[in-house]
Amino acid sequence: MTNQTTNIVVIGAGIIGCSIAYHLAKQGANVTLLDTQEPGQSTTAVSFAWINGRDKNPRNYHDLNRQSLEQWSRFARQLDAESALTWGGELRWAAYEDAAEEIVQRVRTLQSWGYPIYLLNADDVNQLEPRLTPGEVAVASYTEIDGHVDTNIIVNACIQNLEQHNATVYKTQVTGFAHANHKIQSVITTAGEIACDAVVLAAGPDTADIAHMANIHVPLYDTFGCSIITEPVPPIFQHVSVMHSPRDTPPQTNFRQLPNGSVMMHGGAHGRVFDGGSLGQNDKEIQTVQEAVAQYMPALEGVPIQEVRKGRRPIPKDGLPILGFTKQMTNLYLSVMHSGVTLAPLVGESASIEILEQTHIDYLEPYRLSRFE
Ligand SMILES: Cc1cc2nc3c(=O)[nH]c(=O)nc-3n(C[C@H](O)[C@H](O)[C@H](O)COP(=O)(O)OP(=O)(O)OC[C@H]3O[C@@H](n4cnc5c(N)ncnc54)[C@H](O)[C@@H]3O)c2cc1C
Repeated sequence: MTNQTTNIVVIGAGIIGCSIAYHLAKQGANVTLLDTQEPGQSTTAVSFAWINGRDKNPRNYHDLNRQSLEQWSRFARQLDAESALTWGGELRWAAYEDAAEEIVQRVRTLQSWGYPIYLLNADDVNQLEPRLTPGEVAVASYTEIDGHVDTNIIVNACIQNLEQHNATVYKTQVTGFAHANHKIQSVITTAGEIACDAVVLAAGPDTADIAHMANIHVPLYDTFGCSIITEPVPPIFQHVSVMHSPRDTPPQTNFRQLPNGSVMMHGGAHGRVFDGGSLGQNDKEIQTVQEAVAQYMPALEGVPIQEVRKGRRPIPKDGLPILGFTKQMTNLYLSVMHSGVTLAPLVGESASIEILEQTHIDYLEPYRLSRFE
């Protein structure tokens, strides 16, 4: 192993910071991972955590997600955390012709990219998932290779692994940087100053504020997200692992069953039941989502809610990841994105190669901060 003496501070212990820290420590770096709270409790805990390449455009971004999706099994195996993964594919359907046409078009595009996604009719859906009561089915699509992740299991496994590599995990808040000659010399925290050779900034929706402390502008916006988690129930799916209710029949819902039997439900395409409203602010909205889900999966009717989690999606202005060292601070590596759960294995491994081997990975070139300049 090389790089034994490289001191790297990773800011943010969500799934992205944890994956990068894990890969860096595995390669021999001396890693310090910082977070204001317990690891994985921010966006990562709220995430629907569907690993997929389904709605990812343009083609190179689809390929990036596909590559990471394929990498997930290896990543989980390395962490001895395979129980975190649930495979089985994603099913969605349209109730009416207009939306059906959209599904058909998308399936044809994805098939031309080699994605194993297929069109189904109502009988096929019934055979695939006998407990589902979909109502009208104009057309359905089913991807075989998608799955989802229990992010808690993965984050905990990364932390355990980091401790075995003598990495340091601190609960503290980053408040600034000391820098000179376009390099960060130390990270300033509420617990003191930490000297470093390089810094990884993976603070999810707070990335822009922290980058600002180093005079770097990271163009992000965020949207509110909320997940509703039920008490554990017996298995609800026969084959599928991720379900999206018809986008043409509001309220839109998404649901998946976690390895412990709990079901995670989301309302709306981006966590919103009502335009401009914020799901989770009151019991009525939670009830609306649960009733909408139970309409399609009667086994979930009236199941007690265990927890409601709320958070923000970290979304770069053009929707694509921001990855790589910055020109302004040449040892500050940015890593912020939506679809961070899908991308965590690839981003962790790729970032560690770029940081420790001082190289540029070609497939990351479209995602540099410099594209906004
Ligand atoms: C409702 C919802 C559904 C989603 N669905 C999917 C999906 O199906 N598939 C998918 O791939 N992605 C999905 N995403 C996106 C995905 O969850 C995120 O891209 C991913 O979790 C981001 O992880 P992260 O590690 O970058 O950020 P975070 O999990 O937010 O971690 C950042 C960490 O930085 C810490 N931090 C912040 N400021 C400081 C500071 N000053 N000092 C120290 N630490 C600090 C925070 O405490 C936090 O723990 C979804 C997101 C939401 C909200």
